[in-house]
Amino acid sequence: MDFAFDARTEELRGRLLAFMDEHVLPAEAVAEEQRAALASPWDTPAVVEELKAEARRRGLWNLFLPDSEYGAGLTNLQYAPLAEITGRSPQLAPTALNCAAPDTGNMEVLAQFGDERQRKQWLEPLLAGEIRSAFAMTEPDVASSDATNITTRIERASDGTDEYVITGRKWYISGAMNPDCAIFIVMGKTDPDGADIRRQQSMVLVPRDTPGVTVKRAMKVFGYEDHSHGGHAEVVFDHARVPVTNLIGEEGGGFAIAQARLGPGRIHHCMRLIGMAERAIELMCRRAVSRDAFGKALAQQGVVHNWIADARVTVEQLRLLVLKTAWMMDTVGNRGAHTEIQAIKIATPRAVVDILDRAIQLHGAGGVSQDFPLAELYAGARTLMIADGPDEVHQRSLARRELKKYL
Ligand SMILES: Cc1cc2nc3c(=O)[nH]c(=O)nc-3n(C[C@H](O)[C@H](O)[C@H](O)COP(=O)(O)OP(=O)(O)OC[C@H]3O[C@@H](n4cnc5c(N)ncnc54)[C@H](O)[C@@H]3O)c2cc1C
Repeated sequence: MDFAFDARTEELRGRLLAFMDEHVLPAEAVAEEQRAALASPWDTPAVVEELKAEARRRGLWNLFLPDSEYGAGLTNLQYAPLAEITGRSPQLAPTALNCAAPDTGNMEVLAQFGDERQRKQWLEPLLAGEIRSAFAMTEPDVASSDATNITTRIERASDGTDEYVITGRKWYISGAMNPDCAIFIVMGKTDPDGADIRRQQSMVLVPRDTPGVTVKRAMKVFGYEDHSHGGHAEVVFDHARVPVTNLIGEEGGGFAIAQARLGPGRIHHCMRLIGMAERAIELMCRRAVSRDAFGKALAQQGVVHNWIADARVTVEQLRLLVLKTAWMMDTVGNRGAHTEIQAIKIATPRAVVDILDRAIQLHGAGGVSQDFPLAELYAGARTLMIADGPDEVHQRSLARRELKKYL
């Protein structure tokens, strides 16, 4: 077994680390300052566009797409350590590299399931970083971790036009508050009474400016608006009409597309979470050696040693599991790596939440303040125990597969 990264990965890592140090990390405070001066907090600060241009110049663009026709053509194993590095600054770096959720998942869907016209109209501007997108599945009125519960209707127009009429309410639709978000991929039911509950759903492309689409309000995360991610919006579809050619794939194929979309998305989250944990460890160590309490440096307290050591051990374990999962996705496919994808989605957010919690504790009041990134990182990591499938849903499915071996 060879634990080294290959030459291409090492070369890209070097380039990305330099970009992070020279541009991304210094831009964090600039972005905050610029956002405070914007007409709307949902607009994109100018420094983000500058970062995007610089990333493109440095060949650090669309690294997430394994398809070399559209992206960098990296394997999951090659992309994993790069995504980890972007996780050190999750508010800026993924966007700078055009590797941010939910656009990444949406681009994958369009590349894999979109037709030529859909790819031209929506995938190309997304790949160029000219627009943003959102993925609208979750609904406030039903337990949406079970996607068969979705109630949004996608009906053929009864007036003879070749259109779908979409009616429903969605919430926590990431990115939708950002005015650059031009297109929604909406999941709803075309056949709510169909015998196969996994064939009732379809996905359609709904441009933001479609009459009947209202981005109603920004949902908060722990009481805060998540500006850097373009917010998480409540969106109402009130008899919104789109041409039937906006269907992605086939009618009844929405559930399967959602499953395909979530595999890579989940591993990307976990890769970035490891980068978040690395940042927490770094901040913890810097703080511990630079502050004294009761006559000695915090770094000399045994409990601080335990926190740092435990964090390091956990990160090393998680990274190995994430890299193994990436390797399996490359070698046996996303379906073959199902158990591993679920294992990392269960293990990583909760472990990183724990590490961030300790890092916050070590920083005292500074830990919960806006002067360190820890509180924001904590909120991001904690929500990943819910978003893209709550832990319990993955545990249920993983355990059932494990039990099956003995039945
Ligand atoms: C910050 C953030 C961003 C998001 N972005 C998006 C987005 O862009 N697009 C989108 O469509 N959605 C998005 N979501 C929504 C997210 O995917 C859903 O919240 C998630 O799938 C859970 O659905 P739900 O909230 O309806 O919870 P429910 O389905 O009501 O579940 C609630 C709880 O019930 C428990 N539970 C459920 N099933 C089981 C089970 N089988 N066994 C044991 N316990 C169980 C779990 O603890 C779960 O947390 C986002 C959420 C957050 C917080």
